[in-house]
Amino acid sequence: MSEALPPWLGEIALALDQRLRSGGLPHALLIAGPRGLGKRRLVDWLVARVLCMAPGPDGTACGRCRECILRLAGTHPDLWRTEPQERADGGRRQEILIDQIRELIPHLAAAGQRGGHCLAIVDPADRLTPSAANAFLKTLEEPAPRRLLILVADEVERVPATVRSRCTRIEVRTPSPAHALSWLEEQGLDGESARKALELADGQPLRALELARGDALALSAAVASELSELARGTLSAAALARDWVADRPELRMRLAERFAWRWLRPRALTDPALFSKLEAWLAEAERVRQELSTPLRAEFLIAGVLARWPGPSILDR
Ligand SMILES: [Zn+2]
Repeated sequence: MSEALPPWLGEIALALDQRLRSGGLPHALLIAGPRGLGKRRLVDWLVARVLCMAPGPDGTACGRCRECILRLAGTHPDLWRTEPQERADGGRRQEILIDQIRELIPHLAAAGQRGGHCLAIVDPADRLTPSAANAFLKTLEEPAPRRLLILVADEVERVPATVRSRCTRIEVRTPSPAHALSWLEEQGLDGESARKALELADGQPLRALELARGDALALSAAVASELSELARGTLSAAALARDWVADRPELRMRLAERFAWRWLRPRALTDPALFSKLEAWLAEAERVRQELSTPLRAEFLIAGVLARWPGPSILDR
């Protein structure tokens, strides 16, 4: 497969290629599955495959035809991407708005400029506002010929049912731990790092690889020790928040959530009060993590949630 799609995507790509050869794809696909599995790589592969004038025997785009050249230059006139817009402060909106869908619809109604397929990628489809989703229904239901709409969602249950029911779902599934570990080892990780990174990435192998190639394993150890100091009172929530905001706050918050769960769950199972405290803290931490796009507020939010860190210190475990 092209650019070595990992095996769990390669199988799906092969099936899509066969459908294209034997009479085409449904006009609307919903590519669903948890983060960290490479859904966007699959989308890129499919877009390349559909646009290319001379795909190879396994469906790999040639990279040399006029359509491939336009696509690689990012200037293919029959390919649109709709994703959350940037805000004035440089952050990104959480949602895809109705105006963006209204802008997309005429492109999909008009004739394509290149004589092939017209493609639109809506990503993430689980962040369409209800009004944006409504505005999109008619296009999803009765597209012009030779249209391919590709919707992508990490949390498919959040895609409005009316949208879901108009799409053919392509499910990207987490490979078994054994498959994921052997793939990570093929990418050059040793067994121990592969295992740790996969755990950190909730079993999602691409995310694990990204974490392992960065310094995430070292970062994880650092966060564990900082949380211990926080619990012992030798480090303040405010000081920690200041440090975290400066460097990958989202990943640090994820790690803190994981440590809270891992360290407290055994005791919480026999202690209902502790269990509710842990649950409440995890819910707050997750809320904070989703609001980290504005730096000033982020420090304030992180300091708040860390001030309520449910403990314990790693040393008391
Ligand atoms: Zn080509």
